[in-house]
Amino acid sequence: MTFLFNSDPKRGAIFEEFFARELPDVPFSMDPATVDPQSVRYMITWTVPEDLPRYRNLEVLFSIGAGVDQFRIDAVPGHVKVVRMVEDGIVRMMQEYVALAVLSLHRDLPAYLDQQRRRSWQAIAPVQASERRVGVLGLGMLGAAALERLRPFGFPLSGWSRSPREIDGIRCLSGRDGLDTLLDSTDILVCLLPLTDETRGFLSTELLAKLPAGAALVHVGRGPQLDQQALLDALDSGHLAGAVIDVTDPEPLPSDHSFWSHPKIVLTPHIASVTQPETAAVAVIENIKLCRAGLDPIGLIDRRGGY
Ligand code: NAP
Repeated sequence: MTFLFNSDPKRGAIFEEFFARELPDVPFSMDPATVDPQSVRYMITWTVPEDLPRYRNLEVLFSIGAGVDQFRIDAVPGHVKVVRMVEDGIVRMMQEYVALAVLSLHRDLPAYLDQQRRRSWQAIAPVQASERRVGVLGLGMLGAAALERLRPFGFPLSGWSRSPREIDGIRCLSGRDGLDTLLDSTDILVCLLPLTDETRGFLSTELLAKLPAGAALVHVGRGPQLDQQALLDALDSGHLAGAVIDVTDPEPLPSDHSFWSHPKIVLTPHIASVTQPETAAVAVIENIKLCRAGLDPIGLIDRRGGY
């Protein structure tokens, strides 16, 4: 019942150490070329390998990242459990990034960075946090955690998900009507939706138009969710005041793309949150123990929804 680590060997070395200590009866391999494919019960990988059918006894396919949109799930046999990464390190980093981005937009950092480049010393009238409404699309592991981290600043907080949720102190909305209500009353919109057929192109001209004038966007979901031209138009028309963008389509962004030099955009290269090998190894080991006990692992993907 081998565990095959099919990813960056530096992270793999850390996983190997944890497996040797916590799960010594599960052989660990980082080398698909020498491992007996019949022995592989668990695999962790970023993309689904072309030769997946070789691993006929595979039971669980773990994603090394929080999303599984890079997986061709249809290529994974139906009996194999597909599990995304749910671990404390990813959550903490996303909380930091969303706090950084929301505070930057709240305190007009893109405008001040632009002024700095132009040697312009101009104060912008400040808005109190109690008057700045933050809305998060996606109330999953990361959306809910980001809202939790924003709580002490005193922003009125809302979130939106597919199914109804309840979180103390957060206005939780769901469904189409809920989305319109959220957009209508959001000054800083944070996208933390998974990429699925339903969310591709979700941040569209129509959606951005529903935000109040002067609103701003933090995009930390996945690049293909954003209509990039729609964002540029909304910024250039003055409807939106700024954006912090961590994910683009394609990645890396071509060097002639308008996002690089747009004065209202702060751009980062998909670094909002990265799997931390130490905490990820613990999470995967716990999940293997759950599977061996006949229970569902944490982060099990619902194949119908695609996330
Ligand atoms: P998650 O726990 O699966 O939560 C997803 C949330 O989105 C859930 O609340 C879900 O609603 C909601 N949702 C999904 N499809 C929807 C739809 N069509 N309409 C309305 N709501 C919908 O995911 P997560 O762990 O929070 O991660 C979210 C995403 O963040 C990942 O998929 C990945 O794309 C992105 N991410 C980015 C980075 C980065 O560095 N930029 C790092 C990690 C992750 P329900 O609650 O009703 O299911």
